[in-house]
Amino acid sequence: MAQIYERVALIGLGLIAGSMAYAMRRDGLAGEVVGYAKSAETRTIARELGMCDRVAESAAEAAKDADLVVLCVPVGAMEAVAKEIGPVLKPGATVSDVGSVKRTVVEAVGPYIPDNVHFIPAHPLAGTEHSGPRSGFAELFEGRYTIIVPVDGSDPDAVQRLTMLWQGMGALVEEMDPEHHDLVLAVTSHTPHLIAYTMVGVADDLRRVTDSEVIKYSAAGFRDFTRIAASDPVMWRDVFLNNKEATLEILGRFTEELFALQRAIRQGDGDHLHDYFTRTRAIRRGIIEAGQDTDAPDFGRVKARKG
Ligand code: NAP
Repeated sequence: MAQIYERVALIGLGLIAGSMAYAMRRDGLAGEVVGYAKSAETRTIARELGMCDRVAESAAEAAKDADLVVLCVPVGAMEAVAKEIGPVLKPGATVSDVGSVKRTVVEAVGPYIPDNVHFIPAHPLAGTEHSGPRSGFAELFEGRYTIIVPVDGSDPDAVQRLTMLWQGMGALVEEMDPEHHDLVLAVTSHTPHLIAYTMVGVADDLRRVTDSEVIKYSAAGFRDFTRIAASDPVMWRDVFLNNKEATLEILGRFTEELFALQRAIRQGDGDHLHDYFTRTRAIRRGIIEAGQDTDAPDFGRVKARKG
């Protein structure tokens, strides 16, 4: 695949930035990938791993002369980074991000982007429960959607170029406006994470009265919740602080449905439960048919053998 940007700067060197760096360098999508992360420890690890062509000592140093700057930091850190890099951005460059929430990022970052620089927010719908500089891998975005969220007056050529970069990394690209993005993600990602955090929290409370049986006998349903609930606390704190309205709206609906199921169980209304579970099963089939998950038992996990 041909080079799309001469120099790309990644601010933040965790799961998403690392995966982007490996994918771009594998396929020659960028002439040079420069990175920066807040802590000296992460910068050292990134250098040892050879994640980027060069690791800079400040966000401004990384962003200077870059044709594309991608903010790969937690949502709550985006504004401070934008403020620092705004004055050094190259005319004609593009600034993008990968934040899981879009409206507040548009509002926080937009004011610091000079008129002669394109600002095109984005969000790859791909991730794992791992974080940090050692967690990235080149295949993360393959077959997964990246949502591009052009803001008022986004230059179509710059949007097209960013689209080509994400497609080059294997992603399927769609465009959405920020509010719609935040509502869709509240349903598909943010509220499910909150429910998983809650379920694991409840089990943790119970563990104290069941003498660790919750851990010992953890069944597939609970184990899947614990995987989601192992996700990075800083990232998820920022997601809920920044997607407040949509998450609260979906949580309200969730609570109503939960009460209806609770009543069906109390009243022995098997038809209600059966109809409900039949409907939800069809959604799972839809996700598999759309190629967004595997129907292998236990998500295709290979069981560790005892040697
Ligand atoms: P991560 O693995 O925890 O990495 C975050 C990186 O940001 C770290 O390298 C951290 O540096 C750096 N950082 C934090 N504050 C900074 C600052 N002020 N200046 C410079 N660097 C800073 O996180 P991630 O999973 O890659 O997530 C990054 C972004 O992608 C978030 O906005 C998240 O919402 C979004 N996202 C995540 C997923 C997912 O599933 N994980 C999926 C899609 C989008 P240190 O290591 O030095 O602290």
